[in-house]
Amino acid sequence: MSINEKIKDLNILIIGAGPAGLSLARLLQQEKGCKNVIVVERDVDRNTRIGGSSLDLHESTGLRFIKRANLFEDFKNICRPEGESITIANKDGKVILRKPHLKINSKKPEIDRGDLRRLLIDSLLPDTILWNHHFISLEEQPLDGTTIVTFKNGTSIKADLVIGADGANSKIRPYVNDISLKYSGITLIEFEIENPKQVCPEIYDLVDNGLFYALSDEKGFIVQLKGDGNLIIYLSCKRDENWIKESGFDFKKKEFKEIKEFIKNNVLSDWSDIYKNLLDNAVEPFITRPLYSIPFEPMIEWKSKSNITLIGDSAHTIVPYAGKGINEGMADSCDLIDCLFEVDNEEKEFNLHKRLNKYESLMHQRILEAGNDSNDAKEIVHDNNACNLLVDRFLGSYKYIKSLIPFYTYFINSLTDSFGYSI
Ligand SMILES: Cc1cc2nc3c(=O)[nH]c(=O)nc-3n(C[C@H](O)[C@H](O)[C@H](O)COP(=O)(O)OP(=O)(O)OC[C@H]3O[C@@H](n4cnc5c(N)ncnc54)[C@H](O)[C@@H]3O)c2cc1C
Repeated sequence: MSINEKIKDLNILIIGAGPAGLSLARLLQQEKGCKNVIVVERDVDRNTRIGGSSLDLHESTGLRFIKRANLFEDFKNICRPEGESITIANKDGKVILRKPHLKINSKKPEIDRGDLRRLLIDSLLPDTILWNHHFISLEEQPLDGTTIVTFKNGTSIKADLVIGADGANSKIRPYVNDISLKYSGITLIEFEIENPKQVCPEIYDLVDNGLFYALSDEKGFIVQLKGDGNLIIYLSCKRDENWIKESGFDFKKKEFKEIKEFIKNNVLSDWSDIYKNLLDNAVEPFITRPLYSIPFEPMIEWKSKSNITLIGDSAHTIVPYAGKGINEGMADSCDLIDCLFEVDNEEKEFNLHKRLNKYESLMHQRILEAGNDSNDAKEIVHDNNACNLLVDRFLGSYKYIKSLIPFYTYFINSLTDSFGYSI
């Protein structure tokens, strides 16, 4: 049996049906014809609500995966290229940059998380995902090199290769390395607004179907329109890890109205009323998200195992300011597949350990860049001069013509509309 045939026959168990795990399963089945791929997921079924922001897929990572996995046509039907527009304002509501979506240059189309998850789930063979399988523990079997994985529901599965894809709070990570996540210095308060066009028309207009930043005083709002028409809002604050707890104000015990007042008084006291109005119109609940990341100085690489590895956030949690987490998880899937199936004429015996080691080295190099870029973006967003620094980041030397950009974009878009252009 050739080495490739051997890999196709392996029992591969992926733990976690997030974007990273589902992407890997898709490539294993569709591109490589692997027969024994199982994804286990703690959610009870596919209808579990997926919260969170809309996200953009990047050309060299997320979109590369989508195209390679033959999902681009389906993706085109549900993505929102207009979500690429960007507006930046300060705490007084003064607009510093408007950069509408330029249709012919659509490089990072947006998609809602729920839509992306459905696209990936539907791309797998029936019964690939075992729902309601909450990972508890695993035990390596030295005699035959397999691993027995046990779940909360009392069942267990034996696998030749285990892939941890269970996100930032991974329970697989401790079996692979001893990396602990570090607090990034930033806590987000997340909430949503329904009917934004009616209840907060000024901000709705500034969001312009895409992404809006309001930044001053080392903090700011990051606001996005989602596919369901709601606004999702992150209030991003440079604070100690336990600032809410230590302020003696427990979000879980307080009335929603009291939490709104707490945020207005403690975070936004001298901010324009258009931002305070966002809080007045928030729908329950407020979610607090202290952000964590793997260490980058120095970045810790680990000694590879022979039958277990990590992809996505379980391998490399990074802060979300450059929008790279999901994209890098999809790139992991591509790299892991390439390393697993690489033709190596010098390899006499199939050597899984060597292949996992190669994948991990590639992944670490890529993540170093993505992590540093994300940390830089985090610093910019929380700088006292954030608005100008962010304009520099988005426009570079074009910043000198930033006031012309909206006119130029609308003109080019109307030309492309008349030719019926689509991505
Ligand atoms: C506020 C915020 C905004 C972000 N914005 C962006 C963005 O714009 N673009 C971008 O690319 N990234 C963004 N990210 C990062 C992105 O969300 C993550 O990088 C991405 O979700 C990681 O994918 P994953 O598949 O590795 O893990 P996850 O998406 O966390 O999926 C892990 C899966 O494993 C399951 N699971 C967990 N534990 C177990 C267990 N014990 N047993 C079984 N199953 C389990 C979970 O239910 C889940 O389905 C953002 C993150 C945050 C916090």
